[in-house]
Amino acid sequence: MALSDFRLDGKTALITGGNRGIGLATALQFAEAGAKLVLAARRENLEADRLLKEAGADYVFIAADATDPATPQRLIQSTLDRYGRLDILVNNAGIADHGATPDFDDARLERMISTNIVQVFRFSREAVAPMKAQGSGVILNVGSISGLISNIPQIQAAYNASKAAVHMMTKSMASEFAEFGIRVNALAPGYIETDMTDVRLTNEEWNRVWTAGTPMGRYGKPEEMANAILFLCSPASGYCTGTVLVADGGYVTR
Ligand code: NDP
Repeated sequence: MALSDFRLDGKTALITGGNRGIGLATALQFAEAGAKLVLAARRENLEADRLLKEAGADYVFIAADATDPATPQRLIQSTLDRYGRLDILVNNAGIADHGATPDFDDARLERMISTNIVQVFRFSREAVAPMKAQGSGVILNVGSISGLISNIPQIQAAYNASKAAVHMMTKSMASEFAEFGIRVNALAPGYIETDMTDVRLTNEEWNRVWTAGTPMGRYGKPEEMANAILFLCSPASGYCTGTVLVADGGYVTR
């Protein structure tokens, strides 16, 4: 396998949640691999801009709420207007929300479903037409080990269910879109050092359980997730579709 199969020269990628955490690490990795980028999130992050400029990235940041029904079509059209193609869609934007199920009200449930499931479906749906017209495309969904197991000690039934839905959407759309030359895969990260898990810094009990439950004994780094995402979005994974790649330091082995 040639190393060039891991490159993305000439390709255009749209990354939701590209302003921090796993999304930003992916943007930096993709830029280094030669891709042009459209990054979307609700807030612009000046530090992200600095890092991307330093890396010489060809990118544009578009402020957008992914849960707005008009956002997917608007962002995909912006990508086509700017770069003429949509080769890669990374559905990375997501939220976590912990809490006992009896107290988890409808507003929180709806926010979880619209952010972690509905907008992923809409972005993927809107990506099909341009990818089909090109005869190729890759969709990468960021799922979670929480879509595979019921984590402890935190209670998060809605989050777990949302990520299981992402995994099943991945498999279903992989089967449906293969004939168009579109591959659809998911990454299922374990505990990664981002804002989403910053409770690890304040909650000793959760930090202890999460670390002890990980055979490798540490959190993953966003860059390690970006490497796995690069693999799944590059020609190097040309025969992978419908895959849910677990990258969790061994967490789900226990
Ligand atoms: P962060 O909280 O650091 O980043 C979340 C990203 O999603 C931000 O860029 C945020 O931008 C964006 N986002 C959230 N809601 C919206 C919205 N409504 N519209 C647009 N963008 C939105 O978390 P991570 O980087 O850790 O998370 C990335 C993905 O990885 C998520 O899907 C998460 O579930 C998944 N994951 C993370 C794990 C971890 O341990 N960190 C483990 C397993 C999965 P903004 O707020 O500016 O809109």
